[in-house]
Amino acid sequence: MMRQFELVEKVVSYDPSADEASLNRAYVYAMKMHGSQTRASGDPYYSHPVEVAGILTELKLDAGSIITALLHDTVEDTEATLEEIEKLFGHEIARLVDGVTKLTRLELTSDDSKQAENFRKLVLAMSQDIRVLLVKLADRLHNMRTLHFIKKQEKRQRIAAETLEIYAPLAERIGIAAWREELQDLAFREVHTEARESIVSRLKQLREDGQSAVDTIIRDLTDCLLEGALTSDVSGREKSPYSIWDKMKRKAVEFEQLSDIMAFRVLVDDTTACYQALGLLHAAYPLVPGRFKDYISVPKPNGYQSLHTVLIGPSGHRIEVQIRTRDMHDTAEFGVAAHWSYKDGGDPRQIGESLHWVRQLLDILENTAGADEFLEHTKLDLYQDMVFCFTPKGDLHSLPRGATPIDFAYSVHSEIGNRTVGARINGRHKPLRTVLENGDQIEIQTAKNAKPSPTWESYAVTGKAKACIRRFIRQEKRQEFMELGKAILERTFRQGGYSYSEKAFNPMPDGIKSEKLDDLYAQIGEGLTSAVEVLHTVHPEAKNKHKAEKVVPIGRAREQRKKAKDDALPIQGLIPGMAVHYAGCCHPIPGDQIVGIVISGKGVTIHRSDCDMLQQFADQPDRWIEVSWGSAKDDTAHRVSRLQATLANLPGALGSLTTVIGRNGGNISDLKFTNRTTDFFDVLIDVEVEDIKHLTNIIAALRATPAVNSVDRARG
Ligand code: MN
Repeated sequence: MMRQFELVEKVVSYDPSADEASLNRAYVYAMKMHGSQTRASGDPYYSHPVEVAGILTELKLDAGSIITALLHDTVEDTEATLEEIEKLFGHEIARLVDGVTKLTRLELTSDDSKQAENFRKLVLAMSQDIRVLLVKLADRLHNMRTLHFIKKQEKRQRIAAETLEIYAPLAERIGIAAWREELQDLAFREVHTEARESIVSRLKQLREDGQSAVDTIIRDLTDCLLEGALTSDVSGREKSPYSIWDKMKRKAVEFEQLSDIMAFRVLVDDTTACYQALGLLHAAYPLVPGRFKDYISVPKPNGYQSLHTVLIGPSGHRIEVQIRTRDMHDTAEFGVAAHWSYKDGGDPRQIGESLHWVRQLLDILENTAGADEFLEHTKLDLYQDMVFCFTPKGDLHSLPRGATPIDFAYSVHSEIGNRTVGARINGRHKPLRTVLENGDQIEIQTAKNAKPSPTWESYAVTGKAKACIRRFIRQEKRQEFMELGKAILERTFRQGGYSYSEKAFNPMPDGIKSEKLDDLYAQIGEGLTSAVEVLHTVHPEAKNKHKAEKVVPIGRAREQRKKAKDDALPIQGLIPGMAVHYAGCCHPIPGDQIVGIVISGKGVTIHRSDCDMLQQFADQPDRWIEVSWGSAKDDTAHRVSRLQATLANLPGALGSLTTVIGRNGGNISDLKFTNRTTDFFDVLIDVEVEDIKHLTNIIAALRATPAVNSVDRARG
C-alpha cells in the first residue's frame, strides 16, 4: 500500500499545482472513517481507497479525482455524510463522491445478460463527469485484483460476471485497453476457470513444440524493418487467454484452428513511418487478405489509432501485427488521459490546467461522426434523455426522461398499466405523476377492477402508455355512450307516446345509417345522431304530433327519478357508468337546480339550470337530460365552486379572506387575480364545499369581513 507521503508526492510530481493540504486531509479522513474495518484479505479497509487512488495516479489524474478515490467508499460504508464531505472538501468533490456512491449502489440483481447493455448505458448516463467513471473503474480493478480473498464462490462469480459484462466494455469504450485487459483476465479466471486453464496449458504446449516462437519472430521483424532503414521497437506476446477464448466463442472455432495466437506491436517515430513499416512488412511476408485495417486515417471513436494487419510470419505462422507511433500507443493503453499527460509531461504549467484532457476526451466522444457501431456506446451524453429504472425483481426498463410510474407500468405490461392504482418508488408511496430518476426501483400496485384514468394521459410520456390509455378510455366511453343512447332513445319513444322495443330495429329500418343497434345507441349517446329523428324514422306520424315539444321542463317526472335511484351516483337520472362532467362555466354544487346536457364525444355535462351557457342548446331538446342531486347521505364528496370577490388592496386582505374560508370548512383549490388597481383587486377563488348551504355560509361569512368589498358566485 502506498503511504500517505508517497501518494501526495506522486500527484505533485505530475501536477505541481495540486492542493497538497486537501490530499493529506482526504487520506487522513478516509483512514479515520474506515477505522478498524477490514477487507476480506484481512487488510485494513482504508488500504482499498488508497490503492484505488494509486491506480489513478498511473493515469496522472488531477487531485480532485485522487481525493474522490480516497473518499469513494466513505459515504456508503461509514458514518461519513455528503454534507460533511462538502464542508471539508468543497462542492466539486462532494458531487464526484456522490456520483461514485450512486454507481456503487447499483447492483446487477438480475441474471439476465440481456440487461448488460442497458446497464452499461445506465452507468454512462450516471457518470456525468468522466472522473466518476474513472474512479469507479479503478475501484472495480482493485476489487478484481483482490477478488480471490472473497470466500463465497457465488459472490465471486457474480462480481466477475458483472465485470465482464459491464466494466470491461466500459474501459474499452473510454479507450483504456490496459484496464480492460486486466479486468477481463481477472474475471475470466473466476468465471471460466477450466476454459482458461486449458487455453493456458495449450499455449504452453505450443511453446514447448517451438511453434510459439515469439522471440525469434521479434528478431526477424526488427531485421526486416532495419533493412528498410527504419528503426522500431518490436514487441510480441501470445494473446491473452481471454481474447483467445473470446475469439473461439465468436467465430465458433477450435483452439487448433486459431492460428494467429501471437500478436506483435511495432512502435515507430511518426505517422509516415507507420505506413513505411507496413509497406516493408507487406513486401517481405505474404499478407492474409481482408485483415488490413487503417485506424490511423479513421480512428476509433475512443481515440484509438493504429494500423492492423495479419501476415504469414517468418516461420509460417499467422501473426497479427499492430503498427503505431508511441503517442498512439499511450492513447491505446491509457486512453486520452495518458496521452495528454505524456505529451505535456515536460511542461508543468500546462498540466496545471489539469482537466484539459477530460475535455479532450469528451470532444472525441462527442464529435465522432458516422454510423460507427461504437458511437452509440461511446457518447457520454447520449443517454441523458433517458432514465433507467428497476422492477422489484431487478429487471431494468429504459424510458424517456420525464417518464412517470404510469409509463413504467405500461412498459412492464399493458395489463399492469391498465390496473395500476399506485406506485412505491424506492419503497415509498409516491404520486403517479412523479418523474422517475435513474436507478429508481418501482413497485406498481394494482387492483383487479382498477381502470386507467383519463388524467393519466397528461403525465404519460411514452407512446405505448398514451396509446393504451386512449384505447381503454375510448372503449369505456363507447360502453357509456351505448347505455346513454339506449336510455335517451327509450325516453324519446316514451315521451312520444310509443312503447319502445328493440324489435323495431331488427332488421334496421330504412333511413337509419347504423348497421347494428349498439352502433346506433353509441351514435345517439355521443350526440351524433338525434333520437327524435330515429323516432320519426320508425314512426313517421310522430313528426307532426311532437314538433312543438322542445325543451323538457325541469322538475317533471320526479317520480321516475326516485325510481331510477342509484346510490353510487351523486347525480340522479343518469345511467350508471355514464361519463359526467361538471360545467366549468357555472360550477354546480349540491343544492343547485341542475340540468344535464349530452355533449358529443364527452358524455353528460351538468350545468346550473340558470347558467347562461344553456341558451345555445335551446333548440336541441334530445340533448337535455333531467337530473337532480342525490341525497346528501349518498354523497360525501366535496365539489369545487367558484367565487369572485373584490378585496381592498390592503396588507392582510387576502390573508383574512383565506382565513375566513378555512374557518368555515372550505378548502381553496385555486386562486387567480383577474384585475388589480391601486384600491381594490378582483380575485377568482375555487373552493371545495359540501353543498349549496355550505357555500352560502362561506359567502355570508366573507361578506361580514371588512377587507372583502363584495363576493358572489362566479357565473360563466
Ligand atoms: Mn470501493
